[in-house]
Amino acid sequence: MEEKKKQIAILGSTGSIGTQALEVIADSHLQFEVYALTANNNVDLLISQARQFCPEHVVIGNESLYPQLKSALADLPIKVYAGTDAIAQVAEMQPIDIVLTAMVGYSGLKPTISAIKAGKKIALANKETLVVAGELICQLAIDNRVSILPVDSEHSAIFQCLAGEGDNAIEKLILTASGGPFRTKSMDELQQVTCKQALKHPNWDMGAKITIDSASLMNKGFEIIEAKWLFGVTPEQIEVVVHPQSIIHSMVQFTDGSIKAQLGMPDMKLPIQYALTYPERVKSNFPRFDFNQCTQFTFEQPDLTRFRNLAFAFHAMERGGNMPCILNAANEIVVAAFLKEKIGFLQMSDIIESVMHKASFVNKPSYEDYVQTDASARELASSLIK
Ligand code: MG
Repeated sequence: MEEKKKQIAILGSTGSIGTQALEVIADSHLQFEVYALTANNNVDLLISQARQFCPEHVVIGNESLYPQLKSALADLPIKVYAGTDAIAQVAEMQPIDIVLTAMVGYSGLKPTISAIKAGKKIALANKETLVVAGELICQLAIDNRVSILPVDSEHSAIFQCLAGEGDNAIEKLILTASGGPFRTKSMDELQQVTCKQALKHPNWDMGAKITIDSASLMNKGFEIIEAKWLFGVTPEQIEVVVHPQSIIHSMVQFTDGSIKAQLGMPDMKLPIQYALTYPERVKSNFPRFDFNQCTQFTFEQPDLTRFRNLAFAFHAMERGGNMPCILNAANEIVVAAFLKEKIGFLQMSDIIESVMHKASFVNKPSYEDYVQTDASARELASSLIK
């Protein structure tokens, strides 16, 4: 008997992770069917994806683009919706088995909550969801018996290292960081770096927001918080090491002192596929790492004086409550301003630090507290951008 194909919804299908996920599904003989696709603004790409994969439902977040989407798909039996509420509603639909959350930033929170409440397995690429509201999301996942499978390469590496370890205790998680394009720049040089330079990542090809976060090490900061929630460790058990070659994707040290690492080319398709096919591994044609081509692996300590965002993230993780939500909201505002060349690279950290000092702290936030915190931290950050 033929096995029923797994139904997948991709939230944020036109972004870097979304498009690569569709390539993984199209290129391989995976037993997946695309049930729903959602995007925020890129209506042209959404139209061509919908024509290629023929999902049951597509949603465009930006409501003004609805007429264009609707008429472009009028000849196909695809249901078309618009607006952020529709994205959350589509994520709950009964036939869906897996929801891949690949949207950018805070916007991922609401639809992820909807999908978890509807009992969907989550392939989590939107790390901000766990940064903002990790405690709430993890509790919801437990209550609804939902598994959250990491797509982020570091967390996928840790997840792969933990496979087969059962209840063996973790001593620490060692997240690797490439160090980004500015790893060797002095403070004076960092003062002058441009948005264009920041958008050139040495190893990874990603969307604009995460590329800036990688250059400022905020991405690594978010990833330590993401790791705390995904793997249930304490802040003291998380370490970051800079590994500029980006071949070791992260490591786990166990209580006997043994360290396991996961290696591979810097290519997101592997972690995407692993999240979709877990616990199975499926044959792929992804590029292979060749030890003949790599002369050395190097490691160094992250510099928290030059890259203050990582220090802020450690502080936010230790403080808990709504502090990571404040950190994320401030960061979204400063990154948008940096991309528009309204502020300089180092100013991003200055503004984030002030917002973390000024925003009101909530120790045990509810969902409504997160919504409120996000809005007020954004307002604060915006007021500090001249
Ligand atoms: Mg990552």
